[in-house]
Amino acid sequence: MRINATPAAFADAAFFVSGTGTDVGKSVATAALLRALRQAGLAAQAVKPVQTGVEDAARQGDAALYAQAVADLPAAALAPAATLHSFRLPASPHLAAAREGRCLSVAGLRRDILAHWQAETAPLSGEGAACALLLEGAGGVCVPLNEREDTLDLMAALAVPVLLVARNGLGALNAARLTLDAVRDRGLVMAGFVLVQPPETDNEGERLVLADNERTLRNWLDDLGAPLAVLPWVELDAGGWDRLAQAVRPVAQALLALLRTPAVGPDALIRRDTKVLWHPYTSTVAPLPVFVAERSRRNRLVLRGGKELIDGMSSWWAAIHGYNHPRLLAALRAQAGRMPHVMFGGLTHAPAVELAERLLEMLPRGLARVFPADSGSVSVEVAMKMALQYQQGTGQRQRTRFLTPRGGYHGDTTGAMSVCDPVNGMHGLFARFLPQQLFMERPACRFDQPFDPASLDDARRMLAAHGHEVAAVILEPVVQGAGGMWFYHPDYLRGLARLCREAGALLIFDEIATGFGRTGRLFAAEWADVTPDILCCGKALTGGVLTLAATVCTDEVAGGICRDGQAFMHGPTFMGNPLACAVALASLRLLEEENWRERVIALEDALRRGLAPCRALPGVADVRVLGGIGVVETVDPVPVARLQAFFVDQGVWIRPFARLIYLMPPYVTPEADVERLCAAVCEAVRQGLHLPA
Ligand code: PMP
Repeated sequence: MRINATPAAFADAAFFVSGTGTDVGKSVATAALLRALRQAGLAAQAVKPVQTGVEDAARQGDAALYAQAVADLPAAALAPAATLHSFRLPASPHLAAAREGRCLSVAGLRRDILAHWQAETAPLSGEGAACALLLEGAGGVCVPLNEREDTLDLMAALAVPVLLVARNGLGALNAARLTLDAVRDRGLVMAGFVLVQPPETDNEGERLVLADNERTLRNWLDDLGAPLAVLPWVELDAGGWDRLAQAVRPVAQALLALLRTPAVGPDALIRRDTKVLWHPYTSTVAPLPVFVAERSRRNRLVLRGGKELIDGMSSWWAAIHGYNHPRLLAALRAQAGRMPHVMFGGLTHAPAVELAERLLEMLPRGLARVFPADSGSVSVEVAMKMALQYQQGTGQRQRTRFLTPRGGYHGDTTGAMSVCDPVNGMHGLFARFLPQQLFMERPACRFDQPFDPASLDDARRMLAAHGHEVAAVILEPVVQGAGGMWFYHPDYLRGLARLCREAGALLIFDEIATGFGRTGRLFAAEWADVTPDILCCGKALTGGVLTLAATVCTDEVAGGICRDGQAFMHGPTFMGNPLACAVALASLRLLEEENWRERVIALEDALRRGLAPCRALPGVADVRVLGGIGVVETVDPVPVARLQAFFVDQGVWIRPFARLIYLMPPYVTPEADVERLCAAVCEAVRQGLHLPA
């Protein structure tokens, strides 16, 4: 096996040993495995990343046991044991470290473990020795490493297969089940389970329990495809270690099999992707490059191979709380356990009711009715159908068109496409199929300049000419997103609302991108203190975990639609999906508790400072920041693939498009990470990577 001291090679050669609790025989099991792997010809080493309860640092706790287990075997290319951090207090690592004025972190431990692997294996490269590390955690899987992180977090960050150890006896099954579930819920690979037997007993009841535990555990593990090894209680002499190594062999063999089948590398996966998948707005003939995302945590994405990126996109406005937020995942799991989905026709459920109530409390006053939708685009279709049915219901059948500013974006379904910018949207491709809507000038007055009433002239002109046939005016309030990241003056919305009222047209706000704090207000409508007749929200609604959107309207609109026994004619299969509603509810609660306003203000300050240097650089047309959105507008369209490769190389995830390099990081992004995102953008522009190739 080739030795290559990269995180990827590490992930193919390391295993994490944890237990169902403290004192379950984990160190003996690890030592037995070490012996079995060495007997199979592997240069294996047992590593304690954190050892507690070591009075004398020279004795190194479990390291002595590991060395003893292989003392009679020929020396291998690696030392048998290593301890990376040791503490005196026999307690959980967080406490033992704190006692000595230290603080452990997952990132730090991961760094130390990878550095250890590198230092140990680098001298061996070229010798062809096959190496493996057994990383033994302290205590069970939920043992804290600091106030926020535990052993599960470390196992997830290392992304290596997991071995569990339990002591057989009363209560073993319960502890085993809970631990197996915790490991599964982190998406970790279960490599095997070691059951350590207590001393032999004549008590028949006890023997029954032990045998039944083993049988039950074996059944569970069969379902998971993981092997079970049962270690007898033996004297720890040379003969004893041999018996243990023999007994642990089923698990050792599974480890050896994993070692021989390294994980599919990113390149192989991308080749398969290119054959069978289609990515957004791409050609299958000349696809844009993709990267393999494997894991996520807070504001970081981890690519296959171990490269960690600071996320600057919030997965297209959605992941405002960062990734894998425990509260959102807990809501998801709890609802999955109760009822993942049920049809919404004729049935309702608490997650939908509570979400609708919560949303109405947060939205501009006057909105009263929530129609859950599957995605942003669908919520726009629903809004347009609501407007059409309202006009029909109130006897205005001739009102069948929509008026919208140029530069807008509302989604990729048919109705939504018809109100996207006619030049940048897909009107050219689908011209004969799309309904022909009415377009007016983009709101010209910048957000940060005094309001110019003339910016409403075109809206006034269009409504004067076409007002009688307009069902509704639809637009993104304050920030036009995908159509150009344009920030315009809120007074435009106040004036437009007045013009709509005079013309008898409804007003629809598409807050799919702007909603939930991104612009510095909970909803962008608040900048203008305007309540639209219909409002669409989505994206950040579930904190980026699941797809869900909502179309919300006033009682007046609902009443108009439902006049004379009419019903609103829409009802998708997955409408009001309970999983999505439960996560959305958790996300809205988090938003309020976690002080989004301060975080977005801090984000705005950091973006403003960080992107300012771009202003003076060649090929830059404008730099603007609003709330948690930072934009560098270029003179010419940017070479997306070249810029993206540069950004990944710099350790940041930023996906530019058209003439825009933009940032909208999760609200939880630390200031230092915003600085790194901005620095990467500035450096790209300084190097001229945004200029046409
Ligand atoms: N409206 C706006 C303002 C958007 O930004 C988007 C998504 N970019 C949509 C609608 C469409 O939402 P979805 O992609 O969820 O269909």
